[in-house]
Amino acid sequence: MPEPAGAPSSGDALGEFLVAVRRPLDYLASAGAAAAARTQIPGRQLAARGRQLRRAVDGDRRAALDTLCQRLERLEAASAAAERARLAAECRDLAAMVAGQGGRDIEPRYRQQTDDVTAALERLRLGVQYAKEVGPSRAPKLGKFGLETVEDLLYHLPFRYEDRRRLRDIASVRIGEEAGIVGELVQLEERTVGRARRRILEGTLRDDSGLLGLVWYNHVTSYRARYRTGQRCRVYGRVERTPAGGKRIVHPDVELSPDSEANAGIVPVYEKPTTLPLATMRRIVQRAAAEHADSVPRVIPAAIVARAGIADPGLALRALHAPSPEADVDRLNRFATEAHRALVFDELFFLQLGLGLKRRQIAREAGLPLRTGGPLSQRLGAALPFALTGAQRRVIADIERDLARGHPMHRLVQGDVGSGKTVVALYAALAAIESGYQAAFMAPTELLAEQHHRTLSTLAEPLGVRIALLTGEAARGKRGALRAALEGGEVQLAVGTHALIQAGVRMPRLALGVIDEQHRFGVLQRAALAQLRGDPDGPLPHILLMTATPIPRTLAMTIYSDLDVSLLDELPPGRRPVRTHIVNEAARRQLYDRVREHLTRGRQAYIVYPLVEASEKEDLRDATTMCEALRETVFKGSGIRVSLLHGRMKADEKDAVMRRFRAGEIQVLVTTTVVEVGVDVPNATVMVIEHAERFGLSQLHQLRGRVGRGSEDAVCLLVAPYVADRASDTYRRLQAMASTTDGFRIAEVDLELRGPGDFLGTRQHGLPDFRVASLIRDTRTLAEAREAAEQWLTVDPHLRSSESAPLRQVLEHRWKGRLGLAEIG
Ligand code: ADP
Ligand code: MG
Repeated sequence: MPEPAGAPSSGDALGEFLVAVRRPLDYLASAGAAAAARTQIPGRQLAARGRQLRRAVDGDRRAALDTLCQRLERLEAASAAAERARLAAECRDLAAMVAGQGGRDIEPRYRQQTDDVTAALERLRLGVQYAKEVGPSRAPKLGKFGLETVEDLLYHLPFRYEDRRRLRDIASVRIGEEAGIVGELVQLEERTVGRARRRILEGTLRDDSGLLGLVWYNHVTSYRARYRTGQRCRVYGRVERTPAGGKRIVHPDVELSPDSEANAGIVPVYEKPTTLPLATMRRIVQRAAAEHADSVPRVIPAAIVARAGIADPGLALRALHAPSPEADVDRLNRFATEAHRALVFDELFFLQLGLGLKRRQIAREAGLPLRTGGPLSQRLGAALPFALTGAQRRVIADIERDLARGHPMHRLVQGDVGSGKTVVALYAALAAIESGYQAAFMAPTELLAEQHHRTLSTLAEPLGVRIALLTGEAARGKRGALRAALEGGEVQLAVGTHALIQAGVRMPRLALGVIDEQHRFGVLQRAALAQLRGDPDGPLPHILLMTATPIPRTLAMTIYSDLDVSLLDELPPGRRPVRTHIVNEAARRQLYDRVREHLTRGRQAYIVYPLVEASEKEDLRDATTMCEALRETVFKGSGIRVSLLHGRMKADEKDAVMRRFRAGEIQVLVTTTVVEVGVDVPNATVMVIEHAERFGLSQLHQLRGRVGRGSEDAVCLLVAPYVADRASDTYRRLQAMASTTDGFRIAEVDLELRGPGDFLGTRQHGLPDFRVASLIRDTRTLAEAREAAEQWLTVDPHLRSSESAPLRQVLEHRWKGRLGLAEIG
């Protein structure tokens, strides 16, 4: 909020300086390109003056002043007109920021702007019922469809454009072509077809050159009611060949007033409530765009707009809802126009601004500074049976730096399967223990928790660390004693499943929570860990998340923008990539030969099935049946021991089987995805995945990660039916598995195939739905928007300057309730 001008003398000097800066910049801005290129700016002199005034301002404003001085110098040196214009715009923004709360010179301009923004946002928040063409009867339909306000209408962009600039006639249009044709509807009737007696609607369009069939398979009743024979209309769609050799269009777009202006040129097509005709939907949105597009506030600072080269959002909306007849239909359809980019940038800029703000807020919270690199971790280093990889050392250093600061760590370690995350986490835990606190280590399954408990005990118990296992099962018997030990601090490192945070356990001295295979947890609220401490207002514990499902950069930049990320991008030496083959059902004999080959060399194998038991619904091989069958046929009389392991077995049974498999007493483990994450048996070198077509990519990748953990050659065999369609998702999944072991590459393909919502579960992660942007398509713009937002926040970290006031208004409007921005002071 504006304050009266501060300390008089230095304040006046600053005011004079700012006026001196602004005058040449204003001239530069108004002079036109040619004159601007010739205008001399005394940038160095101004910068020198500015530096003398540093003490007149502090904090964010001082940072802005420093940047301003640098830019002024650069401005004097710059010769290219575009570069000069950009720097000048940037300097003006920075000068405004320096003026900040005390800036008499500039403040009123921003006050005017914030008032304008308030009014504009009011108009955008108007309910759809007040928009032209909508009215009380259509408003509820639109509301149910997710279009509630004028703003929703504006950002309801066409998903497709039709090029109707040239009409075709029926005789000359070719099969496979998309075309618009005007004619008369000469016949229309409902029929039932097929054994299912499905209702369809068929029609015929006639023009001077011939006849065209029209077919509707869905919403037959509503289309039947809408059209009449004898009507003149324009149909649009892809022309197909009928079984009888004629031409037809399936589910054509039909315009009943074919000669009107609105239906010529490049025509946008919108998603719509089923019962609303396309033409009506188009009219509603286009009217809204014509009347309200200018209300969309222009608040992104001029310097950013200039640097990113983005168009005005209002103009962009108009260009997309009512494209000019000269527009490039191809680019429109690829969402690749300048107008698209402007809106995508706008959307992502505010996303990144909000996330960046939030991250800065978290960074200010009080935490528990820990001692790192003490005797415990030194002794661990000496006792490890291997040398840490370079990546492990680097990530441990990242973590130790975080832990030593007075703020809570919030770090994600991404490391492919087998990259050695467990020992990295142990270093973090030792820092907590060494500082007199406790640590908790959480895994998604009991199997994995038990394995971690074993690994960590082997490594840390010799150092004198007191460890306990707390899973649902393990806790049941000795819960009382265990709880007391956790509460009293005797247990320093608790290993468990999320039972740990659900069981009402208390760990008052908890300083670190490690969450392994984080993608399986969804968002685990930091609050849940704080709860373990039993002190909601106290300092927050440090959090270390670990995942082997790499999050593609684009997603990490959005969802995990409030996390710091470290990459464990190096496998321990001696590992060889697992060779992966797709195996057809027909080659089953060779498949088992291959498995036997490994077994006779003393290695072990996993055979994974999608189901535990036979199912009536699906004709799939299942683990239970196949375990029996394999014993009786393939491995009969071979002395090879085959055992079953699945998630429905009791914990102690599972435990016993795992122990025997680890000890080599069992050679073949017939199992399910229960072994998907974390299981670590280096002697296992064969992974057979039956019905591989049924598994998702990240699952396949995780399963494959169970082998290739030792120095022996390992192989992964994906059994699947022949997939002829090379464009199908199934084919692409299997192909990705066969062609790479790079977890990042696989995650990218997975993201492309499934979309971000499915990839991680949108709702679970609170990932906002985008109106325009796509995390898959718009990766470049995302990076630009992020950089712009970060730069702005570097100068004004909490958006407190008056220059940032309009940004904050729009930010709050867009993200209210989503990012908890309301809480940010
Ligand atoms: P992740 O959890 O990342 O999949 P783990 O922590 O389970 O991997 O480690 C996989 C295997 O590699 C374990 O057997 C572990 O003891 C071993 N390991 C970890 N770091 C190293 C290293 N630097 N050199 C050799 N082996 C290592
Ligand atoms: Mg692990």
